[in-house]
Amino acid sequence: MNIQKIEQILKDQKQPKFRLGQIKKAVYQDGISSFSEISTIPKELRSVLEKEKILSFEVEKVLVSKDGNSAKALVKLSDGNKIETVLISPKVDIWSVCISCQVGCPMSCAFCATGQAGFKRNLTAEEIVDQVLFWKQYLKNDSARPLSCREYATSSPKGRGGILNNVVYMGMGEPFLNWEEVLESLKILSDPKGMAFGSRSISISTVGIPGGIEKLTEDFPQVNLAVSLHFSQDEKRDEFMPANKNLSLEKLKIELEKYFQISNRKVFLEYILFSKINDSEKDAKNLLKYINSFKKSQLLHVNLIRYNSTDSKDKFISSSAEQTVKFRNYLLENKINCTIRRSLGADIEGACGQLAGKK
Ligand code: SAH
Repeated sequence: MNIQKIEQILKDQKQPKFRLGQIKKAVYQDGISSFSEISTIPKELRSVLEKEKILSFEVEKVLVSKDGNSAKALVKLSDGNKIETVLISPKVDIWSVCISCQVGCPMSCAFCATGQAGFKRNLTAEEIVDQVLFWKQYLKNDSARPLSCREYATSSPKGRGGILNNVVYMGMGEPFLNWEEVLESLKILSDPKGMAFGSRSISISTVGIPGGIEKLTEDFPQVNLAVSLHFSQDEKRDEFMPANKNLSLEKLKIELEKYFQISNRKVFLEYILFSKINDSEKDAKNLLKYINSFKKSQLLHVNLIRYNSTDSKDKFISSSAEQTVKFRNYLLENKINCTIRRSLGADIEGACGQLAGKK
């Protein structure tokens, strides 16, 4: 929702200040899909606002996974660029939204479909927040229906209700390369008069950008932080994640240590297991060594992620379930907090690393 525009309309219509609060509540919290649904404002104002759209973009398509527990929307922005956003149900009636913050991504991680597709532009705070708004409307009712819809699941999230509980900045893009707009979106998402998410229900994921974690620490330390680590040795990380050349593992550690000093909060280390690349016992030992080199190593939590295939001529192969468990057990035996993340949405290419903004 374009708040400045709404404010201007209210001014032009000589409306009292509290109208904005009523509109924000209806849009952000009640999830209405059209301004005409706001029953708390005068009819004449409703008819003026009716001409405006709530969302800044059109949703071209929604794909629903076979089990009905995740959905991916292909979004067409007002300039024609396309992004994707994902809805996931980690538990019955609980929903998480995974949002994009850039069209594409300049980080070029070798295993990520978004990174391989290149970078187009940053998203605005409005475009970022609207992704969450769209899913809120979608869960509420049918009127958020996209232009075309392929729903082959027996049960769809649409109209299912439930609680929209979490927002993760784990879609397309690198949040710290678009910090101003991401910060603005965080303010709206966490504002009790905005979307009212608890800060602890919001997570930001980064590959590690020089000064990025510092900005988070200064501007918005109360949200969760995840770092896409994947490799615990610079040679390997350099090879598959070019961003490592700008922020080596040692430098990343310095940034994280500063974060711990101020926030004293847990940080998630994301680690995709690639067969024969980073999943051996030696790799687990290296990771352990890296984690133990932190002063507050107990604040690091490893999240092991399944590799989701991004194209058929893939040079990466996901580690076997057996190898994954072995890797986890090694870390657990050495007192490192570690979990294996359940992957959802792979059949609609809506899982981590599969978002490319294409049909
Ligand atoms: N640029 C940020 C935000 C994107 S988060 C970051 O990288 O953290 C997307 C997450 O999915 C990252 O942890 C990323 O490393 C992971 N990912 C990328 N490609 C993947 C793939 N093919 N399979 C599984 N996870 C992948």
